[in-house]
Amino acid sequence: MRENNEDNWAIDIESGLFIVADGMGGHAAGEVAAEMAVDTVKSVLLTDSDPDETMLATEVDDPDDAMRERLRYAMNQAAVNIRRKSDEDRTLAGMGTTLVVLVVDEGSAHLAHVGDSRAYLFRDERLQRLTRDHTIVQQEVDAGRLTPELARIVPHKNILTKSVGVHGPVDPDTSTRALDPGDLLVLCSDGLTDPLEDREIERICGRTHPEDLAETLVMEALRRGGDDNVTVVIVVVGDEG
Ligand code: CA
Repeated sequence: MRENNEDNWAIDIESGLFIVADGMGGHAAGEVAAEMAVDTVKSVLLTDSDPDETMLATEVDDPDDAMRERLRYAMNQAAVNIRRKSDEDRTLAGMGTTLVVLVVDEGSAHLAHVGDSRAYLFRDERLQRLTRDHTIVQQEVDAGRLTPELARIVPHKNILTKSVGVHGPVDPDTSTRALDPGDLLVLCSDGLTDPLEDREIERICGRTHPEDLAETLVMEALRRGGDDNVTVVIVVVGDEG
């Protein structure tokens, strides 16, 4: 339905890094923002030393804390790069992106996200949402002013309260959880979750071979009338975590 793809993604199996971004902005701006975010996070996390290590706020002893701090730093570097680029080029003014980043390391999943791209865990036939959307609608649901059912159909349900790029420094939600062999992680843009409810994604996860799952989910979203770019990354946890 769309002429350009404002979603972007990356996987790096060796380092256990998985990213999905969904850009926004006029003309090509959304595409540029999503690509810059993915590239920046990759280069910060996959190079041995940070370009500017002094930016790290504190020395952190706990390795899980250190990883989450690193994710936070990488996402803020992405915000800086996007902001700088949009200052240089007026046609890109105001561009931004969602960003969900997963690092699988020694049997743990470290997550950071901004916006409404999501991460899910599928374990024991149950789908669990690991991220909370940074949207006005989610705020209303949390405050008890809107039911989750109504939240799916109200207008402007995709207006974000946070994004990478537009609002300056970003404060991502971060988490760490232990993984079990056979766990399946799903990263996705709202192109998947607008047309499909969680229980439908759960049903498809339960009956589809993991190797076919990303394509099956994308095709189902499109078949259900999805008119947005759809991006899905599936991570299956092996015996050694
Ligand atoms: Ca989208």
